[in-house]
Amino acid sequence: MQRDTAIFDLIQEELHRQRRGLELIASENFTSLQVMQAMGSVMTNKYAEGYPGKRYYGGCEVVDKSEQLAIDRLKAIFNIEYANVQPHSGAQANMAVQAAILQPGDAILGLDLSMGGHLTHGSPVAFSGKTYVAHHYGVKKEDGRVDYEALEQKALEVKPKLIICGASAYSRDWDYARIRAVADKIGALVMADIAHPAGLIAAGLLNSPFDHCHFITSTTHKTLRGPRGGIIMMKHDFENPWGHKTPKGEIKMMSNLLDLSVFPGIQGGPLEHVIAAKAVSFHEILQDEYKVYAQQMIKNAQAMSQAFLEKGYDLVSGGTDNHLLLIDLRNKNISGKKAENTLVKADITLNKNMVPFDDKSPFITSGIRVGVPAITTRGLKENDMQQVVNWLDRVLMHADDETVISTVRGEVNEFMSGFSMYPELG
Ligand code: PLP
Repeated sequence: MQRDTAIFDLIQEELHRQRRGLELIASENFTSLQVMQAMGSVMTNKYAEGYPGKRYYGGCEVVDKSEQLAIDRLKAIFNIEYANVQPHSGAQANMAVQAAILQPGDAILGLDLSMGGHLTHGSPVAFSGKTYVAHHYGVKKEDGRVDYEALEQKALEVKPKLIICGASAYSRDWDYARIRAVADKIGALVMADIAHPAGLIAAGLLNSPFDHCHFITSTTHKTLRGPRGGIIMMKHDFENPWGHKTPKGEIKMMSNLLDLSVFPGIQGGPLEHVIAAKAVSFHEILQDEYKVYAQQMIKNAQAMSQAFLEKGYDLVSGGTDNHLLLIDLRNKNISGKKAENTLVKADITLNKNMVPFDDKSPFITSGIRVGVPAITTRGLKENDMQQVVNWLDRVLMHADDETVISTVRGEVNEFMSGFSMYPELG
């Protein structure tokens, strides 16, 4: 068969794009070569509907071992009893938990999308908002932090069956114990979606949701630095309080319900190549070097936050506890959209983002989200953050000046060439 040069040329082009630029998208990271090797392996050829030891296809004895390794390693990372590594993505993980315990029309309560929440937490354009009756809580105007009082009031009022915490664009840590206390007052369950801070939680640098939340979901490709995918976890298994029955009439444990909800509930065959790659990334997270990486993310985010504040940028909540910053650009007279589009011309990649109480649409936005997971993997340290912020500021303050933009691009490219990336790939 003829080699597909079109696609392989594009892969090479993408490698060069990733190498030469400053990657500040908070949800992105660079996996290790061995993670990518596992993903691009023969594991992709195998059908394995079911779970290790209970498959609907023959020949699963090898992928059984690899999926079991992924499960065992994930359990070891967070010291938990239950893990499902099959969700194809973070959205699927969230969908599977919701589908396991909710009926259409049940009430749920999650952080508003425009305040940093995620589509899968009840947005009207996503399955969760279409299937369940979604209510939302937000952040306080004065300090940009989750309004736990309002959350409690709303919960008492609408009595959701599920309270969801976690976010896509929130730079502060969560008070999981407080949310659990609210849930216990109304007999609700709690799901923490730790897609963003999972790696920092794994390293013990942020509050852990595991003792307080019934379900924990995450992506594997952000701070966890694994392949693109999702996971579902529980610290302890427990009996489903609503007594859902299987067709056989048995009351199932929550672990059974969750497994059934992923497959056959919402997915077919698991992506065993991605699961193998998840296992590799979990192996990496269990090494001491990962902890150093996680600590460096915090140092970088802190240094970056300081540098932005010194230049008069308005950080939502005034700073960060984690790996990202949300910046309100209204005092700088540039929209999030224009900022994103201009910075990309200087090979600086980030995304426009709504800020709380935004007066612009999600297509324009008043803010940007800036994250350090990828540049920290590249090897940038806290001392480099001032330089990074200087480049962003120069471009944002001269957004119509092509000379400034191309000068910054040259400097960024030159600087990034000092941080080698996938040297094995030529
Ligand atoms: N949950 C949160 C908090 C996220 O930020 C994201 C993605 O950005 C997701 C879920 C969805 O993950 P995926 O894109 O893998 O479906």
